[in-house]
Amino acid sequence: MRDGQPNPVTRLADYQPPAFLVPDTRLDVDLRDGETRVTAHLKLERNPARADRPDELVLDGDHLDLRSVVLDGRELAPGDDYRLDGPRLIIPGVPEAFSLTTEVRIEPEKNTALEGLYRSNGMYCTQCEAEGFRRITFFPDRPDVLSRFTTTIHADKGAYPLLLSNGNPVDAGDEADGRHFATWEDPFPKPCYLFALVAGDLACLADTFTTASGRDVALRLYAEHRDLDKLDHAMDSLKRSMAWDEKVFGREYDLDIFQIVAVSHFNMGAMENKGLNIFNTSCVLAHPATTTDAGFERVESVVAHEYFHNWSGNRVTCRDWFQLSLKEGFTVFRDQEFSSDMNSRAVVRVENVDFLVNHQFPEDQGPMAHPVRPAEYQKIDNFYTLTVYEKGAEIVRMQSQLLGAEDFRRATDLYFERFDGQAVTCDDFVACMEQVSGLDLAQFKRWYAQAGTPVLTVEDEYVDGEYRLTFEQHTPPTPGQPDKAPLMVPVKLALLDGEGRALPLDDQGRTETVVILREARETRAFPVPARPTPSLLRGFSAPVSLRYDFDERQLNTLLAHDSDGFCRWDAAQRLYFAALARVVDGGETPADQVARLTPVIEQVIARADEDPAQAALLLTLPTENAVGDRHTPLHPQRVHAAVSGLRAALGEALADAWWRLAEGLRESDYQGDGAAMGRRRLRQVALGYLAAAAGAGQVDPEPLVAHLSATLAAPTCMTEELGALRALVHNRLPGHDAALKAFGERWKDEPLVMDQWFGVQATVPGADTVDRAEALLAHPAFEWTLPNRVRAVIATLVNANPSAFHAPDGSGYRLFARALKKLDGINPQIAARLANGGARLKRLEPGLAQQLGDALRDLRPGASANLAEVLDRILDA
Ligand SMILES: [Zn+2]
Repeated sequence: MRDGQPNPVTRLADYQPPAFLVPDTRLDVDLRDGETRVTAHLKLERNPARADRPDELVLDGDHLDLRSVVLDGRELAPGDDYRLDGPRLIIPGVPEAFSLTTEVRIEPEKNTALEGLYRSNGMYCTQCEAEGFRRITFFPDRPDVLSRFTTTIHADKGAYPLLLSNGNPVDAGDEADGRHFATWEDPFPKPCYLFALVAGDLACLADTFTTASGRDVALRLYAEHRDLDKLDHAMDSLKRSMAWDEKVFGREYDLDIFQIVAVSHFNMGAMENKGLNIFNTSCVLAHPATTTDAGFERVESVVAHEYFHNWSGNRVTCRDWFQLSLKEGFTVFRDQEFSSDMNSRAVVRVENVDFLVNHQFPEDQGPMAHPVRPAEYQKIDNFYTLTVYEKGAEIVRMQSQLLGAEDFRRATDLYFERFDGQAVTCDDFVACMEQVSGLDLAQFKRWYAQAGTPVLTVEDEYVDGEYRLTFEQHTPPTPGQPDKAPLMVPVKLALLDGEGRALPLDDQGRTETVVILREARETRAFPVPARPTPSLLRGFSAPVSLRYDFDERQLNTLLAHDSDGFCRWDAAQRLYFAALARVVDGGETPADQVARLTPVIEQVIARADEDPAQAALLLTLPTENAVGDRHTPLHPQRVHAAVSGLRAALGEALADAWWRLAEGLRESDYQGDGAAMGRRRLRQVALGYLAAAAGAGQVDPEPLVAHLSATLAAPTCMTEELGALRALVHNRLPGHDAALKAFGERWKDEPLVMDQWFGVQATVPGADTVDRAEALLAHPAFEWTLPNRVRAVIATLVNANPSAFHAPDGSGYRLFARALKKLDGINPQIAARLANGGARLKRLEPGLAQQLGDALRDLRPGASANLAEVLDRILDA
């Protein structure tokens, strides 16, 4: 907790290698409810890489009750032989190489922070990244200390029949008093953040995978017994991930067994502990009756992501936490590529870009803006951000494009071979790219160091048979970085003629080229017969904000004819943003926009059966947050009125077309393939427009209510069921209360479905939803200690319901502040992450900014280090 002192700051520039290495770690964990003992036997030796040879051993610890310290067989005395400095254990005058045994007592049952060892629904489990291991035992808790772990777990056999840790199982047996033990040995040296332990009574889905070199790997997925039927999709995703990583990156799995455990109380999505991944239930359990299509896609991508970490993260790990994107950016890139190969590449790319542009770009423009490789932090937990993950993935993607597929593969092979078993940096990664390709990427590396979204302004002219494009790049100032240097920006482009055909750009007739920008301002010329429509930043070739003054005719051309999925989607988005801007700032009405947008939408609908999922993306209006981020100062209610008004107006104007889609795409039986998911997605978009029009009283609600009620009475799957519920509830259509009640009753024993039920209610547009959210917090099924439930109510209200969160009377802010205060005492990581919902403070119109600022300022005294860092950035920016 904070005592008026500023939090200590950790800086990349201060990095020093560890003073001591720990080649061997033997843990003995004696689990007893109320009294757990951890005995750690460490072999330590001085690190030759550390020139200043400190003679003190400093070990990290947190919430540990130290019982004994034994060095080379001699029990040390407190005070004389060792001391505790805050949470750290300090032993002066240690030899060059020695063994150290410590015994601590810990209380996993009281650990609501969900870091280290804790209890969740009657089982013990761990989460050590980034700094949780220090809550289990004293250790140099930093990623560049790699150790070989052997772990023995003892527990009551009846309550905890299953005892798991990293690596391969080597021993097990019964002990006195109905207890038993198991020993696991991990032959691969790893940092302690990859340590994991599980003890519980769980059901298992078992399978095997034969690697390319012919080794059989046992696959085990564990969940609560009632969830055994929800593991098939994760197992299938895992086997496809293993095969894909062999084929695409040449990476084979290395242990005899790979295990995933589903845990209900979990701060993150999932964790890649060596050989024993621990997952939030929401990222592993899937069944058509209880999981939406989006949930299925998430399971597939998270299973792949964590599995891929076995090489990009575990075999080759990070030197320090500033290099987090080394493993996360690269692994997100790898999971995006996997999803693209498993599904429609064009659709996955648009989904990824949509997420980046509408979530990471705002982070870059707000008080939390930081480089992909930050220069300093107070709490590393606060830097598990979209910038590190998503923008980090774009930086790897740009390198893969610059090198081309073959060289990129050679470069990643080199990276994995050269650094196997080591803790390295982003520079080491880029050096492999340079060595293989011969490219000079010194300027490119600014992408890692410079925060903020570059703005790329493009101007054009057509003179004497030559089309000239002038590119100007500028990265706005961000906290701590007032001046920015030009970046290396790959811009993939094509030029379309009046009929929308791509023009040849060189002698070989190629119609697409990549311009690599290096200067603040550059001009390129293309000899073409007439002024073309530029198709810019194809495939979203760089994470920049593109400014080009497209006219409506050009956007219609791109939307109708461009072969690039991103550019089509971007054209549609620009048309929607322009229409909404005319309403928000221009004094026009939503109805005024209908005539201009209708032909565009009709054209997309006419081609919808070519790719229903892509059509769904093209027909989806920007979110209120995305629209709001384009208007300063931000008036959330005005934006809400514009977006909901436009949706209702389009719903009314195109009601017949929406009905044809909704009816035509209705399924009689559930199908789980990608094509069926695309059709369901498009049907939900159509129903969304109809429901908006019905809710606004612009069409008769009766036929729609009948349709939705029929779906709810006999849904083919959760996507359909939840979609119908949301349409009724969000638009307050007749019968919505009864539908909510019935849904809640039907699914009361399925926590992940109940999260959706809470979420639907927390996202009902309108200021009165704050009262509804207050009531949800008092609901018997609401648990402050369950992060998924907290996210379902509070995070969705704050991040996905601007018209409620920014209620004019400030009630949304007061609820937000009360929730943060309460959560900070339970789980500071979750509180800090949630606090980022206040990041738009300085963009709000003055009346709201004042109220939000007041609510947040009240939280500062006594805030945890995690929460304080975020509050300080928001309030002081
Ligand atoms: Zn990851």
